[in-house]
Amino acid sequence: MKKKVIVATCGVLFMALITVGVLKPGTIRSLFPAERSIPPMASAKEESFHILPLKKKPSPQKPTVFYFVPHADDEVLTFGVPIIQDLKQNKEVYVILMSHGDITGARARINKRVDPDLTSRELGQARVNEFTEATNRMGLDDDHRLVYDLFVEGGNRDLDYERAKTIVAAYVKEYPQAEFKSMSVFDVHPEHAILGKAIQELKNSNSIQNSQTFASINIMRTCKKSPRCSGRQEKIGMPVVEQEIKLTEPKDKHVLSKAADAYRVWDPKKGWYSIGEISVPGQFRELKRDPTTIIVKE
Ligand SMILES: [Zn+2]
Repeated sequence: MKKKVIVATCGVLFMALITVGVLKPGTIRSLFPAERSIPPMASAKEESFHILPLKKKPSPQKPTVFYFVPHADDEVLTFGVPIIQDLKQNKEVYVILMSHGDITGARARINKRVDPDLTSRELGQARVNEFTEATNRMGLDDDHRLVYDLFVEGGNRDLDYERAKTIVAAYVKEYPQAEFKSMSVFDVHPEHAILGKAIQELKNSNSIQNSQTFASINIMRTCKKSPRCSGRQEKIGMPVVEQEIKLTEPKDKHVLSKAADAYRVWDPKKGWYSIGEISVPGQFRELKRDPTTIIVKE
């Protein structure tokens, strides 16, 4: 009874102090910190992640190939030669871009030349546009490409690896007869190596029957010209070369060159920022000088 009287008296006293302006309403709440420590709802910030279905199923008469492309430009720089060859052999080719590529040193360089600055998301969308144009020029249509959103700014590499493996595994399950192609586990770029590791693990567990691994143009050529990059690559080790594949016909070289040029378009008003060329000019030069790609031992 005595306790109830004390509580009621305190309540009346606080209300009176608020009324005369001595206390603010928030002051009373701050006396009860437990009330303020309720965490924000985690689910509100969680991004959605789901497997994208193919827009057009492969023709049963054609051999089917999936290329898992870590970033926009890898489909030209490292996979351009085999994609053009596969299309010539009348294979059904799908390119799966794994990221928008929001994180790139090119953004700071581009932002010196544009106003207002591009956000990392805007830059990522512009990279996807370059990818779409480049793959169009190689002869792939919208039914044969998909775009995921891994490797985001502030992302988690372990989660990226799990998701990359989940993505590859989903297409393996649905199209077990297809061929699955990507980069080497030995690649100095961790996001390239993640794709290599995902395919390697699925192969080791006998989920993938048919795969092919390529060494990026960076580790075979441009990285060797930079002591910092080659030092890192030395620690990882180099993949073993199995076979070189080349484009020999002028018509095919022209297709590849045109596809690479999609990464050189500078027209900011229309959303073209030459991101590929500004990011890795040396790799584009190398590709044009010698359109060769390396298949490595798995
Ligand atoms: Zn890349």
